[in-house]
Amino acid sequence: MNKPVILTLDDDPNVLQAVARDLRSKFGSDYKITRADSGDSALELLTALKERGDRAALLLVDQRMPKMSGVDFLEKAVEIYPDARRVLLTAYADTDAAIKAINDVQIDYYLLKPWAPPEEKLYPVLVDLLDDWHVANPPPFEGIRVVGNRWAPALHQIKDFLARNHVPYLWLDPETSDEAKELIESVKADKLELPCMFFPDGTVLQRPENLKIAEKVGMQTVADQPFYDLIIIGAGPAGLAAAVYGASEGLNTLVIEEKAPGGQAGMSSRIENYLGFPGGVSGGELAHRAVTQAKRFGVEILTARQAAGLRAEGPSRVIELADGSELECRSLIIATGVSYRKLEAPGIEKLTGAGIYYGAGMTEGPTLKGADVYVVGGANSAGQGAMYFSKYASKVTMLVRGDSLSASMSRYLIDQIDATDNIDVWTRSAVAEAFGTDRLEKLAIDRDGENTTVETSGLFILIGAKPRTEWLGDAVARDEHGFVLAGPDVRSKDSLTLLGPSDRLPYLLETSMPGVFVAGDVRSGSIKRVASAVGEGSMAVNFVHRYQAEC
Ligand SMILES: Cc1cc2nc3c(=O)[nH]c(=O)nc-3n(C[C@H](O)[C@H](O)[C@H](O)COP(=O)(O)OP(=O)(O)OC[C@H]3O[C@@H](n4cnc5c(N)ncnc54)[C@H](O)[C@@H]3O)c2cc1C
Repeated sequence: MNKPVILTLDDDPNVLQAVARDLRSKFGSDYKITRADSGDSALELLTALKERGDRAALLLVDQRMPKMSGVDFLEKAVEIYPDARRVLLTAYADTDAAIKAINDVQIDYYLLKPWAPPEEKLYPVLVDLLDDWHVANPPPFEGIRVVGNRWAPALHQIKDFLARNHVPYLWLDPETSDEAKELIESVKADKLELPCMFFPDGTVLQRPENLKIAEKVGMQTVADQPFYDLIIIGAGPAGLAAAVYGASEGLNTLVIEEKAPGGQAGMSSRIENYLGFPGGVSGGELAHRAVTQAKRFGVEILTARQAAGLRAEGPSRVIELADGSELECRSLIIATGVSYRKLEAPGIEKLTGAGIYYGAGMTEGPTLKGADVYVVGGANSAGQGAMYFSKYASKVTMLVRGDSLSASMSRYLIDQIDATDNIDVWTRSAVAEAFGTDRLEKLAIDRDGENTTVETSGLFILIGAKPRTEWLGDAVARDEHGFVLAGPDVRSKDSLTLLGPSDRLPYLLETSMPGVFVAGDVRSGSIKRVASAVGEGSMAVNFVHRYQAEC
């Protein structure tokens, strides 16, 4: 296969030559570096590349060009290569135009001229962007094939698990794909239970659980040691931040994650308010970066393993896993976040996974091409979901209980929704019933007191959350909604005696069990944001150090 292309565009021959030289010296072995001296010739070049089947990874474009500005060019180039990373090269005087372009054309970055030394000012940014591009655009497929009926909930579980763990796969529908039929026939079994996974080494897994998949694709599912300085339950932003800080500060650290690193943030199609990412970042990308960072510091991450119990045994904290095995540590951080509240209406439970999904269901996006999709919820997560589906579906309708979005959603998202032609917002609306035999076919909607029935194949529910703390039982004090109490809240609950013989007050993020801390959405009173989860995860590690030094 041809190398992916990096295109650089500048009308100044000296600058063009210098950029191309720097690009070639760093990226020439892995990418084809091409250049153009005008917007028109660059567009012709991209069209020809596209026709040849080449992939474009990055467009590095000068803003100031007399015939066609960099922003104008990128606006056109996006139609040819929508996934290529887009970088504008600007003079200081043009930074306003560049910042505006981040919103208008969704450029990924702007770089200031001059960019010397490239090792500091050019390469780090481009390396990051190219890494992201590779994650989002894996090369043509030679790996795992998943065969299953489009509407089977078990297929959704497999696709979701693989996608969220960044394992490339190809889904084949047995009703329409000849390859799927051939694969099924190749298995000499009396009865094959779909969905099935076919691996390049010939292994076939029928209706596999996440743990089986994780083991087969080589994810770590068993801890290397029986005892750790720090164990973290949950690999969302809070857990991953705690892991990075813990391991980088010398703690022998293990993370236990039930589904996939990234947590709720991993389901977000675009996080626009996280510091340092002016063009926004998808939750998947953010999680991928955090996992790479954590592993670089030696963190072990167990995937598809669920914490099911916690107890203290002298100075050790013992975690029981769902399969009955146990792991011990000196300190524990609970970072299990929240999960979606269930929508109570007839028909919803039966069709969950078969057209009805909790969360933004990003794996389903491309399969909904041309469909009419409904999104329930009026907060930021629902808004992001609607924006994401508007790229695939012909129409997205948001069902919002309240009178408007303004009480529950950030202004920037409301503006984006207003500006998107194929999103409708129905206020004072709720799902009354879902209909379908083996997949969602119709919804009865109560719209401002009137009953309306609509045909649809996709309903996405994003309606608030409840803490993932049932597994803790009475091990630590929780508030009336189940969120874990910490620091001053533990004191006010009069649970102080639980902190043992030292009779000290709990540290800020310490729970009622000494040495056990809590961070992120699962904490009572937490602010449900990526940045605050990351902040609490890193703060919790500081208290772990104090606990281990003083207690
Ligand atoms: C669709 C969507 C869009 C969002 N967009 C934004 C945004 O734009 N900006 C923003 O700031 N915030 C956004 N949020 C909110 C943000 O994602 C959360 O505040 C943040 O992810 C909380 O991080 P956390 O680590 O505390 O918990 P979570 O992200 O919930 O992670 C908890 C992890 O713990 C795991 N877990 C739970 N129980 C167990 C167990 N027993 N054993 C093992 N593992 C377990 C879960 O599988 C999960 O991976 C969004 C949320 C959603 C759902």
